[in-house]
Amino acid sequence: MKILIAEDTRAIAAVMAARLPALGHETSVAENGRVAVDRFRESPPDLVLMDIEMPVMNGFEATNLIRAHEATQSWAWTPIIFLTASDTPENLVTAIEAGGDDFMSKSVPEVVLQAKMKAMARIADVRQRLAAANRKLEEQANRDGLTGLANRRHMDLMVGLHWAEAQRRGAPFALLMLDVDHFKKYNDRHGHQRGDDCLRAVAAAIASTVETANAEGVTAAAFAARYGGEEFCVVLPEASAPAYASVAAAIVDAVRRLGIEHPDNADWGVVTVSVGGARIEAGGGELAPLFRSADARLYAAKRDGRNRACID
Ligand code: GH3
Ligand code: MG
Ligand code: MG
Ligand code: MG
Repeated sequence: MKILIAEDTRAIAAVMAARLPALGHETSVAENGRVAVDRFRESPPDLVLMDIEMPVMNGFEATNLIRAHEATQSWAWTPIIFLTASDTPENLVTAIEAGGDDFMSKSVPEVVLQAKMKAMARIADVRQRLAAANRKLEEQANRDGLTGLANRRHMDLMVGLHWAEAQRRGAPFALLMLDVDHFKKYNDRHGHQRGDDCLRAVAAAIASTVETANAEGVTAAAFAARYGGEEFCVVLPEASAPAYASVAAAIVDAVRRLGIEHPDNADWGVVTVSVGGARIEAGGGELAPLFRSADARLYAAKRDGRNRACID
């Protein structure tokens, strides 16, 4: 375990810091409560051993701040054991009331120290597995199952956050709506299974175009989502007018260059997408009209012959 020891008496801290590594733990010592809270935030440990009397900030205040910090994190409850001069029933009650989980005498016998650390290591292990499972669940809840792109729910959330940020900073904001051309005919000819494969390939081409734009600094935090069916959306926070235009064109190109045969796609013979976009120079007003403009331009791109972007 990673154990944070908050203890102002150097001799005691040194003894603890020497005993724990012998049991296979990593320790770090904070000389007062303030330092312990800062250290906790920077690099959350699996266990805290907390002295009560300390200069600058005592152990109870530090515990309060740690619990307040944990309340803002998901799946966080780090065991805190108070280090006390003596193990009396009063000390136990005070420790639990103060948000601690247990207390331990500073001169705890070796077997007791070992037993307590074993119990705490079990808790740390369960916490880690819970946190990992939770991260995975969160990740899955945000992804579209077919394409792996952000799903509609996640997109709505993210687009709202980015929009609010753009408004706050008076920054530009752009959207692209994409729709696969004559996709119903693709399904009709090749079946839904291959239709799904095609959607996955199109999504990957969109995602890699967006990733490249971010990596090259053309865009900042652009992301792609599956809007629904054979429709996708690309959100371009802070995109300059040229960046917006180049990403739109690059996506149209990237999908066509996949070269997925589609004889029923009129003039093109391969799978293509149409793109409609909308951009504003400085965030302001409502988001919905921006989506409506992008949609209207998507239909203009379809009318004009498909396999193209209509962005202004
Ligand atoms: P347009 O060029 O005007 O967009 O024509 P279209 O045929 O693409 O448009 P339409 O909206 O008529 O058809 C969309 C098709 O996309 C119909 C539906 O079966 C198909 N589709 C939607 N979601 C999926 C999916 O998850 N998998 C597969 N295989 N097909 C899907
Ligand atoms: Mg002390
Ligand atoms: Mg459609
Ligand atoms: Mg379509």
